[in-house]
Amino acid sequence: MGRYTGPSCKLCRREGMKLFLKGDRCYMAKCAIETNRPKPGMHGHRRGKMSDYAEQLREKQRLRRMYGLQEGQFRSFFEIASQKKGMTGLTLLQMLEMRLDNVAYRLGFAPSRKAARQFVKHGHLEVNGRKSAVPSQVLKVGDSVQVRENEQSRNYARTYVDAAESRGIVPWISFDKEQLKGEVQHAPSREEIQPLVDEQLIVELYSK
Ligand code: SF4
Repeated sequence: MGRYTGPSCKLCRREGMKLFLKGDRCYMAKCAIETNRPKPGMHGHRRGKMSDYAEQLREKQRLRRMYGLQEGQFRSFFEIASQKKGMTGLTLLQMLEMRLDNVAYRLGFAPSRKAARQFVKHGHLEVNGRKSAVPSQVLKVGDSVQVRENEQSRNYARTYVDAAESRGIVPWISFDKEQLKGEVQHAPSREEIQPLVDEQLIVELYSK
């Protein structure tokens, strides 16, 4: 299946929760979830009891859509997470959070994860001092991410850092606003990620 190109808010309405796909609008009263718009489709207002499988599937879709991954990419991340030591669900969350595009979003270099992915792809970032244009690169503790030294890259990032900073930069990344540079201090804990989904249901889904 190809990448979803429809309206972002429709995905939130489908999942019945904020997936934070549109930048500043997601924090405003006009957000479709805040205004209680019904789920898309003729039967969007209906609410029935979900089966265990349906609940697991929904949690997976929510997390996948939040990070903007296609099914195959998401599944690959899960497979890698399941081969690592520790709890698979938490490892999966940590890997998603430590993706380069997500770190760029968390640092406020772009208004949304989708925009951050484009920002990375267009070569505006350096990882450990070297240009990197791979949004799916999973960073390690100690890695630094910096906006490249050119006016276009820096002006774009500066447009969004203030809003991100006022919402709070995540505690597991240090941030130097002057340099437009961040460094991964430690792998985020579950409390620091504050996932909006129950990752254990996703582990159960893929373990069938
Ligand atoms: Fe989702 Fe953001 Fe649209 Fe609200 S404004 S429905 S959080 S994408």
